[in-house]
Order: sequence, then C-alpha cells, then structure tokens
Amino acid sequence: MPFWDWRGLALYEQHLNYLKEHDPDIFGYLEEEKKRQMDGIELIPSENLVSQGVLEALGSVATNKYSEGYPGKRYYGGNEVIDKIENTAIERAKKLFGAEHVNVQPNSGSPANMAVYWALLSPGDTALGMKLTEGGHLTHGHPVNFSGKLYNFLQYGVDKENEMLNYETIAQLADKEKPKLLLCGFTAYPRKIDFKKFRKIADETGAVCMADISHIGGLCATGVHENPSPYFDVVTTTTHKTLRGPRSAIIMCKKNFAEKIDKAVFPGLQGGPHEHVIAAKAVAFKEAATPEFKNYAAQIVKNAKKLAQVLMDNGLRLVSGGTDTHLMLVDVTAFGISGKGAETALEECHIYCNKNTIPFDTKSPWDPSGIRIGTPVLTTRGMKEKDMQEVGDFISDCLHNANDKEKLKQIRGRVNKFCLQFPFYK
Ligand SMILES: *Cc1c(COP(=O)(O)O)cnc(C)c1O
Repeated sequence: MPFWDWRGLALYEQHLNYLKEHDPDIFGYLEEEKKRQMDGIELIPSENLVSQGVLEALGSVATNKYSEGYPGKRYYGGNEVIDKIENTAIERAKKLFGAEHVNVQPNSGSPANMAVYWALLSPGDTALGMKLTEGGHLTHGHPVNFSGKLYNFLQYGVDKENEMLNYETIAQLADKEKPKLLLCGFTAYPRKIDFKKFRKIADETGAVCMADISHIGGLCATGVHENPSPYFDVVTTTTHKTLRGPRSAIIMCKKNFAEKIDKAVFPGLQGGPHEHVIAAKAVAFKEAATPEFKNYAAQIVKNAKKLAQVLMDNGLRLVSGGTDTHLMLVDVTAFGISGKGAETALEECHIYCNKNTIPFDTKSPWDPSGIRIGTPVLTTRGMKEKDMQEVGDFISDCLHNANDKEKLKQIRGRVNKFCLQFPFYK
C-alpha cells in the first residue's frame, strides 16, 4: 500500500490527542470537518487530501522560526537548520520539475503570481491572460483583482465553436497588443494546454512567457500533462491541488529572472517565510517523485475521462465535449436547474463541487449555467474507473431530483455508505 494511505489511516487518530483534552471546541470542529471530508464525495478539482507526512511537517516546530531572507543570507540568527529544510525543498522542486531556479517562499498561489508581476512588470504595463469566465484565474487580470487594477491585463477566451483555446486568435491578439507578459495556465479549462504554442507566440512578440500550472502541477510533475518548466521563463504552481502538498505555492524560473523574483517575494511582498509549510512542501515533492505518485496522476485523468463519459451518457453536456485533465465543466441547464441549484442539491447529498460559468454563459457568475468537478480527491481515496460509474450516477440522480428533498436524503444515505469503502484518515 502506498505510504500516504496507511500512514494516514494508522496515525491520524493520535494526531489531535492534546487538543482533544485541552481544547475540546476546536478539537470537536476538526473532528466534524474530518468526518465531513470522509463521508462525502469531494469533487472540487482544486482540493486534495494530504499524507500524514505533510500533516506532521505542518504541525512541527519549524513554525516557531523567523527566517527572513534566503538560505545563507538571513536577517535572523539561528537559521542553520531552517536553511537545510529550505534548501531541501528547493532542490527537490528543481529536480521534480526540471527547473533552473525555484523560490519556495510564496504563501499561496495568488501571492506567487503577485510576486512575478511585481518582479517583471511596472504598474500600467500590458499583459495578456485568460478571462475568468472562460477558465482564467482572478489573478490573471480580473478587474476586481489587484492584477486587473495595477496592470493593463488584456484577456483572451476560448473559441465559440469547440470551447477550446484557439492559438491563432491568441497569436493575433498578442501581435497587435505586444504584451510584456504572456500568461497561460488555467483554473477551469478541461483540455490539454499546448505550451509549445504559447512559447512560440511569446517569442514572436517579445513577451515574457509565463505559465500558472496551479491546477495541473501534479500532472506536469509526472509527465501526465506536458511540463512547461524546462522552457518557460516563469512557472508558478500551488502545491495543494493535484500536487497534493500543503496549502502553498512555488515560483520556478530561468536563472536570468531569479534575482528579480527572489527580491519581489522578499523583501518586496512578504516577510518571514512559513518554514513549517516549506518543510511540508519538501515532503510533498519527495512523494511526488515516486512511481506511486506517477500512477496516481495517471489514474486521476483516467477517472476524469470515465466520469465525463458517465455524465454524458446520462444526458449532461460537458464543455468542449469532455476532458483531458483532472477536471470538467458540466452544463447543468439541460436538467432545468442552474449551477447554483446544482451545487446546493449536490451538497444536500454530501457531494461537493462549485458552481462555475461556462464559456459564453448567458447567466450571471452568481448563478451560472455550470458546475466544475474533478477527480483528484476521489483518486487519492483509491477510487478507480469502475467507481466513477457510481459517482456519475449519484450526480445525475441528484440533479434529476434537485427539488425533491426526500429523494436527496435517500441519495445522501447511499453516498455516505459508498464513501465507507474508501477510508483515508481514521
Ligand atoms: C488556485 C489557483 C491560484 C490561486 O491559489 P491560492 O492558493 O488560492 O491563492 C492561482 N492560479 C490558478 C490558475 C489557480 O488555479
């Protein structure tokens, strides 16, 4: 059995022993949350379940230390051991992704992107990223986000015909606008990204070529999706999504951008790095380099393809007609409900997802036409293709009966029972 499975099962029970006795309020909530995670079907594609090793590093004494600066150049004494931890995280990340330089200090995905822009752009500079409503992230230039306020972020979308990226249109836009930074990598795009085409567009227009692989980090690290890190100028990724590490992020870049990026993270934007999280990132990178993890990443995609097929067979339309990755966008309007209605009905059955706009959505982002679902958590729990038949049927059943409280309650009972077969934390 892979080490993250049995470790999680055997040891989590003792993990909160002190709290159990001394802070029953928080202990109680944490137990409740663990039960919720174990009893339900988690389909949010940006979530995962971490190993006991990652949890142990997160709960370690490394949280006590101030270490502003970088290994060997700290503004505080007493960092000889912390330097070993941070250097280990850096070396493991470099090897895992084939990156020239890695900064492991960003506290999460949004701060990582902020640091890249802070390093490489001046306020008012033009950049080009994907629209939020068609798969981009808030930090890719949305007007409510610092990225849209501080920079002249122009946006591309998907093609109306097939709901996929149209590289010719992006190339034309880049040629016309001459952005200083070209950004790809998405948060709700179910198809493979042709990174080589983005690299070519950036070269032709003189833009810095950046990928934000937050969602597909684990797929890129294992070669299940093409990995842009060896030939892109800058790559950011969160570490808590398909990469299955702690809630955090890293920045990878070519040597010539290293100094600017390190300075932007610290002292530009952050203070003391969270070294306990950096230790947990190092643990996750070691896990991600194993053959078991490679199988895991491949299984995520197999499960997603199977789930997509089941949903389509049950009469639902999928954006772009399917998936190549860990996630899919489901247009739920055929069942006479909205994305918000679907999210609520599914939650009633202990099936968790998020409402999401679909390309060219005619409804509002508060109550869009779709939901976004994915398979990273279910795959971590050990589910295979055959289990996706059941998961897909639960989803369709629930959406068909979205207004029938009694039916939803019955489905919830079946969901809870189904989940017992796939324990993860005891
Ligand atoms: C999740 C995500 C982020 C943001 O990460 P946080 O840790 O939530 O700040 C940034 N970019 C993309 C593409 C993402 O999917």
